[in-house]
Amino acid sequence: MVSVPFEYTRVASYDDAVRALAERGEDAKLLAGGQSLVPMLALRLARPTALIDINDIDDGEPAVDGEILRIPALTRHRAVVDSALIHRHTPMLAACTSRVGNVRVRNRGTIGGSLAHADPTAEIPCASLALGADVVVRGPNTERTIPARDFFITYLTTVLEPTEVIQEVRFPVLRARQGWSFHELVRRASDFAVVATAAVVELESDATTVRSVELALAGVADRPVLVDRKAVAGLVGSTCAPGEVATAAAAVAETTSPDSDVHASGAYRKRLVEVLSRRAFTEAAERARQNGA
Ligand code: FAD
Repeated sequence: MVSVPFEYTRVASYDDAVRALAERGEDAKLLAGGQSLVPMLALRLARPTALIDINDIDDGEPAVDGEILRIPALTRHRAVVDSALIHRHTPMLAACTSRVGNVRVRNRGTIGGSLAHADPTAEIPCASLALGADVVVRGPNTERTIPARDFFITYLTTVLEPTEVIQEVRFPVLRARQGWSFHELVRRASDFAVVATAAVVELESDATTVRSVELALAGVADRPVLVDRKAVAGLVGSTCAPGEVATAAAAVAETTSPDSDVHASGAYRKRLVEVLSRRAFTEAAERARQNGA
């Protein structure tokens, strides 16, 4: 199909992008990598009156600033996957981004676009929740920092105002005695996840006992979900022994009520949550032990 007609503008700064959005009203859309927006235009699922292309903005390179990894919004998925800095400081982000689409999609798609698009089965939003990321947003005369856990509302909908632009995403760097794990089930390589789990486990100074656990899920609700800490409380103080992990994974599955769709039944997704959570806890704890030596 062919898109509805729209005005096309290129901007060279985030301020100009905000201004252009404000001038053109609610039916204007930003164009970043185009890997979600262009298919939606072609299917007429999106009908913007204006596209504001932000690809001319030079927003720099990922950088570590103290305990924070700062990633500019226009950073392509491929740059994340190829970045030694990101592998060292936030390895789960590099790992989950390598599962996004195929190489053509990763060459164009951006981290800001993935978060703004807010697909509930997408890898990056899910990992951002488990990692405790912040989304830095520019609006008319304002800049605000939104924790990822407050960012997603429902299918393809976030708290972003129509005149706001994501300019940066911030991730805490991996600390000593922290480990991570990302697992997903896909029907074909390059597909969105049927279900994904992203876990971060931190150990006490003995490098054995679990201090904290964060788990996020994709593919189980209308948005990516950060699992309530009460559901994983049984692992805190444990050593992530197989029985403890199995009990926690079953408890996590019980917190979900996934819908059925053409890809999988709700019951199957729930079972996947249990199986993938078990793998994620076990692997994250093992990595935390290795990272504590
Ligand atoms: P665009 O498509 O340009 O924009 C998407 C939306 O975000 C638009 O509404 C746009 O206005 C808004 N937006 C973009 N940038 C900003 C910004 N800085 N601030 C505010 N709003 C912004 N994704 C996955 O997660 N997993 C997959 O397995 C996967 N497989 C794919 C397979 C194919 C064949 C294709 C075509 C895409 C796939 N994708 C997948 C989507 C891909 O990850 C997209 O790159 C991503 O969802 C959107 O990023 P983008 O830069 O292309 O954004």
